[in-house]
Parts: sequence; structure tokens; C-alpha cells
Amino acid sequence: MSHEGIRIVSAEEALRSSDEAAAQMGEGLPAEAVTPLKVRVKKSEGTGIEIDWRDGHASSWPFRWLRDACPCATCNSERQSENRAPGEPRPRSQDPFALYQAPPLPEEITSVGNYALKIQWNDGHQAGIYSWAYLRSVCQCPLCKPPQI
Ligand SMILES: [Zn+2]
Ligand SMILES: [Zn+2]
Repeated sequence: MSHEGIRIVSAEEALRSSDEAAAQMGEGLPAEAVTPLKVRVKKSEGTGIEIDWRDGHASSWPFRWLRDACPCATCNSERQSENRAPGEPRPRSQDPFALYQAPPLPEEITSVGNYALKIQWNDGHQAGIYSWAYLRSVCQCPLCKPPQI
């Protein structure tokens, strides 16, 4: 029996290529690491979101970063095709709105069950469900993401 023509992918690879990949990131973390103790949404200040986690860790993300890290299927596959990491802005030259773009701000933030935040952005996009596990997996603190030299 020949397997020719059948691409066999590892479970890890399959997960990476699925639309759910971003949402599933961080699922291997212990519960305390993905359970927020305190969530501060600096909506009126227009700065970003801060989360203190049960395990004592603290994370924060600017709104602009979160917009570029939207975990929905559309943004996810767009980032994959452009080879961008979550939070990495799209190259200016490829951006049809490069001339003027209002800074990304949330219009509305709602909690989804007790596991995620749904952010409706001022550009009308509202498909992104930011799960605690996803947010923790993209923590930008110097411990999780050492500054690049
Ligand atoms: Zn999106
Ligand atoms: Zn961190």
C-alpha cells in the first residue's frame, strides 16, 4: 500500500496550521498561569490591557499590539501568509490604509464565559476572541519575551 500523495503531518503541525491554532496556544500551561486574578482594561486611557495572573505573573499589551494579534481565523491566516508573529504590524507598503489610520482602540470589550475577552475594534473588526490561554502565551514581559538585541 502506497502513501504517495498523502501528506502526513504530525499532530503539532496540524494544530499549527489550523484556524484554532492561536486559540489553543498556551493550553499546556498550568491552570494558575492562565487564570487571571485581575484584569485591567485601560479603555478610557486608550493604552491597553493588563492582567495579573494567579501564579503571580503580570502581563500587559498595548491595544495596537492586541489588534495586530487578533486571534480570529481571518487575521490568523493573514499573518501566516505574511509570516508575521502575533502583534507584529503589517508592512506599511502593503497596507492600503497606510496614509491615515486611526490608532486601534476597542469600542467594546465583553467577557466570553470566564475564559476569554471579545474585543470590538474601532475599525469594525470584532471576530477576535482573546482567551486567557492565548493572552498568556503571548505575554510580552521581559521574562517571556526577552528584548531582542
Ligand atoms: Zn481578526
Ligand atoms: Zn511574561
